Amino acid sequence: MSEKKKKVVKSIKIDVEKCNGCRACEVACSAFHATPKYSTNNPGRARIQVIHEPLKDIYVPVYAGEYTEAECAGRDKYVIDGKEYDECAFCRASCPSRDLFKEPDSGLPLKCDMCESDPPLEEPLCVQWCLADALTYEEREEEVEEESEEVEDMEVGLESLIDKYGLDKIVDTVTRIAESKKA
Ligand code: SF4
Ligand code: SF4
Repeated sequence: MSEKKKKVVKSIKIDVEKCNGCRACEVACSAFHATPKYSTNNPGRARIQVIHEPLKDIYVPVYAGEYTEAECAGRDKYVIDGKEYDECAFCRASCPSRDLFKEPDSGLPLKCDMCESDPPLEEPLCVQWCLADALTYEEREEEVEEESEEVEDMEVGLESLIDKYGLDKIVDTVTRIAESKKA
């Protein structure tokens, strides 16, 4: 029988109406994840991207989600205020069909980690820097299965990354990230 345990689920609520497209969230995120931390601020490395349509004042922040090896077979079209958006515009996945949410140097997938750090931040950096209050950080408790399943998921993810990029590249990247966390 599987054991249940409590887990804190973190989320960021996005109020698209309040987003003014300033892109401070992208800058803050990329600076936080730079090596060493805060040494550069290249929005191309951010784990959040603001999809924008300046002529219609439409700005939609999108967070980097899971890496996926397969492209979608079917896609969605969005029309907002009469403007039709690219089929993949609001997708959170890092996937082979586009360059979004990929580390520009290595091509490794980027994923929002909620600014994981030690000691933990009170709020993720993008939320702190969103002066328009378009981003709101929330935490809630949920019951989940014991950790063994999460570890299995992680192993499956790691194996697919090793298949795609090779073990040496993954080890280099993990070492670099571990060093930046210590900095
Ligand atoms: S910092 Fe806030 S207002 Fe600025 S682009 Fe990001 S979500 Fe939008
Ligand atoms: S929560 Fe942190 S990692 Fe995620 S997009 Fe915001 S700044 Fe980047």
